[in-house]
Amino acid sequence: MTGRLAVVGLGPGGGPWLTGVAAERLRAATDVVGYAPYVAQVPPAPSQARHPSDNREELARAAFALDLAAAGRDVALVSSGDPGVFAMASAVFEVVESAPPERWRGVAITVVPGVTAALAGAAIAGAPLGHDWCAISLSDNLKPWAVVERRLRAAASADFALALYNPVSRARPWQLGRALDVLREHRAPDTPVVLATDVGRPPESVRVEALGGLPLDAVGSRTVLLVGSSTTRRVRLPDGAEAVYTPRRWP
Ligand code: SAH
Repeated sequence: MTGRLAVVGLGPGGGPWLTGVAAERLRAATDVVGYAPYVAQVPPAPSQARHPSDNREELARAAFALDLAAAGRDVALVSSGDPGVFAMASAVFEVVESAPPERWRGVAITVVPGVTAALAGAAIAGAPLGHDWCAISLSDNLKPWAVVERRLRAAASADFALALYNPVSRARPWQLGRALDVLREHRAPDTPVVLATDVGRPPESVRVEALGGLPLDAVGSRTVLLVGSSTTRRVRLPDGAEAVYTPRRWP
């Protein structure tokens, strides 16, 4: 009998961030496959097999999950945040496209959404993505840096608010500085930038900086940056706290 595969988003921190649909599918799964720290976030279920793997092996991991499903298992391939945002869902479709059609014949594939880091961070800060916005990964592992820079320039000059994923890593130390230089050509120095790190799991931190003086050492590989548009501003709230928001109305 042929099994099935769900690519499941865990939300930014698993646990309480998991949607009901995702929790149901994880409970039903006979096998959970994914990067080890994400597999560890999946609530325990009786007699479920777990297959934690290395982060770099995305296509191999997708093929392994499909092999299990083809052998009749009910497989959940887990991803942090949303599986369709710079994550495993595309990897699954990519290996399916490149394999002979008989390899995984009959396997039903579904994608179960999750709360992506940008939306979780935005909610904690207020509503910085309340008007038009776009998401760009600063990683040039899978696309040339020239493409990243062209897209940054286009989004900034069109006055989108931006969510920047994969801002830095040990192998990519200079890209964030270069990206901010591009954005500063189009945005005022006092443009609010939300730095949301480890949202949904300790040691969660969400702070607001100005684009002009943004401290690079406050950004890590587990940070998503939310860069305001020209209308994004700070507002003082009734309880004394402050929120960042982008109005829905164009001035
Ligand atoms: N599929 C994930 C994104 C994977 S790309 C999602 O939808 O959220 C990895 C990048 O996502 C990280 O470099 C960081 O920019 C962001 N990210 C993932 N989890 C995060 C979290 N809990 N808090 C802040 N940013 C996070």
